[in-house]
Amino acid sequence: MTDILVVLETREGALRNASLEAVGAARAAADASGGGKVTALATEQADLDAAQLGGAGADAVLVADAGAHSPDGAAATAVRVAGELGVGAVFVSATVRGRDLLGRIAAGLDTGFAADCTAVDFAEGGFVFTRPVYAGKAQIQVKVNGPVAVASMRGNHFAPAGREASAEMGTTAAEGGKAQVTAIAGKSGGRPDVAEAARVVAGGRGLGSAENWHLLEALADALPGAGLGASRAVVDSGWRPHSEQVGQTGKTVSPELYIAAGISGAIQHLAGMSSSKVIVAINKDAEAPIFQHATYGIVGDVNEILPALTEAVKAAVE
Ligand SMILES: Cc1cc2nc3c(=O)[nH]c(=O)nc-3n(C[C@H](O)[C@H](O)[C@H](O)COP(=O)(O)OP(=O)(O)OC[C@H]3O[C@@H](n4cnc5c(N)ncnc54)[C@H](O)[C@@H]3O)c2cc1C
Repeated sequence: MTDILVVLETREGALRNASLEAVGAARAAADASGGGKVTALATEQADLDAAQLGGAGADAVLVADAGAHSPDGAAATAVRVAGELGVGAVFVSATVRGRDLLGRIAAGLDTGFAADCTAVDFAEGGFVFTRPVYAGKAQIQVKVNGPVAVASMRGNHFAPAGREASAEMGTTAAEGGKAQVTAIAGKSGGRPDVAEAARVVAGGRGLGSAENWHLLEALADALPGAGLGASRAVVDSGWRPHSEQVGQTGKTVSPELYIAAGISGAIQHLAGMSSSKVIVAINKDAEAPIFQHATYGIVGDVNEILPALTEAVKAAVE
């Protein structure tokens, strides 16, 4: 029976979806260990819903009294609370912020961590984490050596528990930090973050120019809940912001649908999206490597295929 602390991620007081998935992962893991308690911790002030978090799998919620996010302060708060509760594991989301916290929390607890996990099992008294290696070409199973198993959970691999329950709400003191986030630059168009979107429409150099991005935006508009992604070639050219970059040096995504338009399928790009459930590749080169990883491949010019696909999607969604 292992109690688990989940460090929530909030943005301007609102909970991010990835955190509900991490809570769901913790609930399943705690149950697999014989029924431990799941406590969710917001490391700064946030407007949290006891029924939403309880439904996702949390037994209790603690909200710290920090006014703004501090990476070292949040990690210190999580380390202190983990010690106070005596948990056997700490989970975070494998988001940009989660990655920032993961190592700090593990160091603070004098333990190791498993990053970017896609599954959690319980065997021989401890958690066994499955995570991709070699840019997703292989999966390994790891156990964390140390008193507390710290791990980050990759998006779209775990689901909130979906139960009828209300979490017990409480507060805790926030630890001070040396660094504090004072502002977050807004991102384009109010679309979901590419790392969280259930569907991703991504473009590469084959789009030809930044001006052609309206072709992808139209398709993303037609697909409910779609986010925009980009290859590094596009980001390096200044066509799209780095926040949309998918891949080894960008974000890791695992949506139910990933549409790769004009993307060749370099190993560094595949590292960020190859665990997507359905991959649709559009490329004018039938030999492009992306087709080896695609569920569906369309050989053709993005300038013709994207508008036709958008119209087909609109007709299907209506
Ligand atoms: C250390 C390191 C880290 C990296 N990290 C990343 C990363 O995080 N993410 C990432 O994406 N890359 C990364 N890269 C770069 C990666 O190696 C590739 O250079 C990059 O992914 C290529 O982007 P692309 O597919 O858009 O462009 P290209 O490789 O130039 O491919 C363009 C594709 O578009 C097709 N095309 C052209 N015109 C059309 C058209 N009209 N219609 C349809 N198809 C068309 C072409 O056939 C081609 O396949 C990294 C590289 C290194 C060395």
